[in-house]
Amino acid sequence: MDQIKLKPSPGHVKSPLLQMIPLSHYVPDELHIMLRIWDRLWDLVLQELKTQNRFNDLARAKIFAEMRRISISFNFWQEQGTQNWSYTSLMGEDKEKVLKNFNFRVVFAEERAFLINQLWRNFYELYNNMKSQKINPSHFADQAKQWLDLFLTPFQGEPNTITFKIGLYRPKDVTPYMHVLVHHLPKFMEQHQKFGLSAFSCAPVEKKNYDVVSAFF
Ligand SMILES: [Zn+2]
Repeated sequence: MDQIKLKPSPGHVKSPLLQMIPLSHYVPDELHIMLRIWDRLWDLVLQELKTQNRFNDLARAKIFAEMRRISISFNFWQEQGTQNWSYTSLMGEDKEKVLKNFNFRVVFAEERAFLINQLWRNFYELYNNMKSQKINPSHFADQAKQWLDLFLTPFQGEPNTITFKIGLYRPKDVTPYMHVLVHHLPKFMEQHQKFGLSAFSCAPVEKKNYDVVSAFF
């Protein structure tokens, strides 16, 4: 902790909020890394459609159909008296299916869809690797960094010219969970390789919570 206070480690601009708890005691939960990063990726896709004024009935129908193709029941609806569109909040298993199989070509042009598909597929691979005890932590660190670089692919060249290359997202779109994924997870994988990070997963607790809530209602 003294080292961090003197010289923030890579990816940090500030000293830790709770200095009395050593960083080694914050083992991240792989389930929520996946769930929350998924939410951000999905939100960025919808935001892009909204800013381009393309988040219309047609786009929603195409998303609905693509979800159906990959066996997920998913809906958009408008709350009464509001203009906002809500959508089905997916469970972990369905989110995995989207990461693995959803083809963004249904709502984006070919080149754009290719980039976004790649970002989602690579994240799915990272998610599987973080749960595996066989993966080498330093290899994982490289992979995670590459994924963040892909997420941050900058736009290049002048718009509407032949040299223009489309990019992805901005640094301000990065979330704390992404920071954890890139800058902390490899260390924890190394520290706990004997058990694997899955030993710290919140998935069983969430499952129990789900069962209890279902039984209650
Ligand atoms: Zn950090």
